[in-house]
Amino acid sequence: MELGCTGKILVVDLTTGRIRPQAVENAVYENFLSGLGLGAWYLYHNIASHADPLGPENVLGFVAGVLTGSGSLFAGRWLVVGKSPLTGCWGEANAGGAFAPAIKQCGFDAIFFSGISPRPVYLFADGNRAELRDAADLWGLDAGAAEARLAEMHTGRKRPRIACIGPAGERQSLIAGVVHDGGRLAARAGLGAVMGAKRLKAVVLAGSQRIKVYDRPGVVRLSRELSATVQNQPPFVSGKVAAYLGRLVRALPAQMETDGLLYKMILRKWGTVGMNQMSIEMGDAPVQNWRGTHHDFDLDTSAALAPDVFTRPVVAKYFCYSCPLGCGALVEGAPGTPPAHRPEYETAMALGPLCLNADAESIFRMNEMLNQAGMDSISAGATIAFAMECYEHGLITRDDTDGLELTWGNSTAMVTLIDKMIRREGIGDLLADGSRVAARRIGAGSERFAVHAGGQELPMHDSRFDPGFALHYAVEPAPGRHTVGSLLYYEMFQLWRQIEGLPGPSRFYLKRSKYDTDVEKARMAAACSQFVNLINAAGLCLFGAFLGVHRLPVFQWLDAVSGQPRPPADYLRIGANIQTARQAFNFRQGVDPLAIQVSDRALGRPPQSRGANKGRSVAVEKLVGEYFQQFGWDRRTGQPRKSILEKIGL
Ligand code: SF4
Repeated sequence: MELGCTGKILVVDLTTGRIRPQAVENAVYENFLSGLGLGAWYLYHNIASHADPLGPENVLGFVAGVLTGSGSLFAGRWLVVGKSPLTGCWGEANAGGAFAPAIKQCGFDAIFFSGISPRPVYLFADGNRAELRDAADLWGLDAGAAEARLAEMHTGRKRPRIACIGPAGERQSLIAGVVHDGGRLAARAGLGAVMGAKRLKAVVLAGSQRIKVYDRPGVVRLSRELSATVQNQPPFVSGKVAAYLGRLVRALPAQMETDGLLYKMILRKWGTVGMNQMSIEMGDAPVQNWRGTHHDFDLDTSAALAPDVFTRPVVAKYFCYSCPLGCGALVEGAPGTPPAHRPEYETAMALGPLCLNADAESIFRMNEMLNQAGMDSISAGATIAFAMECYEHGLITRDDTDGLELTWGNSTAMVTLIDKMIRREGIGDLLADGSRVAARRIGAGSERFAVHAGGQELPMHDSRFDPGFALHYAVEPAPGRHTVGSLLYYEMFQLWRQIEGLPGPSRFYLKRSKYDTDVEKARMAAACSQFVNLINAAGLCLFGAFLGVHRLPVFQWLDAVSGQPRPPADYLRIGANIQTARQAFNFRQGVDPLAIQVSDRALGRPPQSRGANKGRSVAVEKLVGEYFQQFGWDRRTGQPRKSILEKIGL
């Protein structure tokens, strides 16, 4: 058993009700660490090829990282993993709160569910027992209500930590996620639908075991040093100045290497919504279903979504377990309503400029509705933007929309539409499975308005602004994700400082050089994939990783936890093993990686004629083969070679 891990997983067959702990061999931890890596190893071996994602053969895993519970900071992230019903590919969604340590406190590094329960159930585990219990009374409840009821039912010595689905997951909406902490989501890839299909309403954990660590004082000392950096917050610019900074970035022909410390300061002051106006201005946030620009949502309009609007009186800051930063918040609700989760940047942009909606109140409202239903706000916003463009072109009419005027920016119609999507009612049923499925149903060429990669609606980071996003949208085994890599992320990670041979970007460079398709770009992208896989195997937060490896002591923490120091390059190799396992998983499921296409609009085909990304297009296909080769996979097909698979026990 690797120190920092429990050495065991819990395996639950929902069809038979059989629950058994299973020991994990040391070689697995050596090759894949824990967290995402353990999930990739288990799912590769235990999901039959060409499995139905909503059938009994799919396996849904809840995995915690090796650093969680060790005294490391930013180590409260967990993942839900499974075959995605939205894309048919490897699926994962990341979440925080205090559920990650709860998994390990029950004595397991991960919990895996297969089969389908004959009736709604939830899993209760506390380290001494693990049992499936009846959830008939919980089925149909919103996520917050279900969590509150479960908390009332389990008032033992230890406060239970809960992950559950809301009505969207129960109704198997393919854009449903898994909810925790009263309305925070592991949102992407539609894994809430898998949980719904399995009739698993919730996982309730109340264990209290401690994790063995080789050098806990050493871990804590490293954490203290990092904490001082995180807490150092000089007086910061106003939201308005941040917006003008975005305008300046747009205007200049060159840019400087980005330091993640700036992003940390924004997060600390406003949370992710601190980027709202800045991103629209510099061309990172897509506008009007990716066809618009800042001209269509100008500074005067976006002022309605300014960071300060979203940080209205904070009731409580929200910290994931062991986080020194706390980027979330509960804020005052509308008069007469309880406090609400502050929307995240992705939500504000997907339900805002992507639909030309500048009504912040409606975004707060839709955010709460989606959180309680357990539906991905990025996919929901992107699917509404798709529907609005279909409506504009007459591909759907008021007869199809139950009388709703789906005109751009119609926030009242959007709120009603979200309600219908959650209920799967009328037009809502057409849209509840995301834009690709809706386009197939509508036909008439509507596919050109669905902006996605392999079925996953793209996040609010424009690949024409940072072509590094385009490559990751295309090549990741979980396509269409902004949480792995980009040119900007590579700069912030600063990996070249500790890993020999990795290219260091220029301090100052012309923006147009970002669009060159040289081998270095593929190497940087591969390094991002490897590093973020490692972060997800460790249970760390991506926002912590943005501080750079010269500040976030990820390698040193891992050394201190295991007592077996390894060079940083060896840790990156573990990240590469995880990427190979996820890619091999896709092949086993019949996924051809070359068939995963990023929508033309997101690649600048044709390029925009005005705005921050004017004239830009991304030749992503020129880098795909190079990227595959960085992992030793077949350059032409992306298939991992047999020798590599055997070497890592797959
Ligand atoms: S920075 Fe935000 S998302 Fe990351 S661990 Fe802290 S609270 Fe959670």
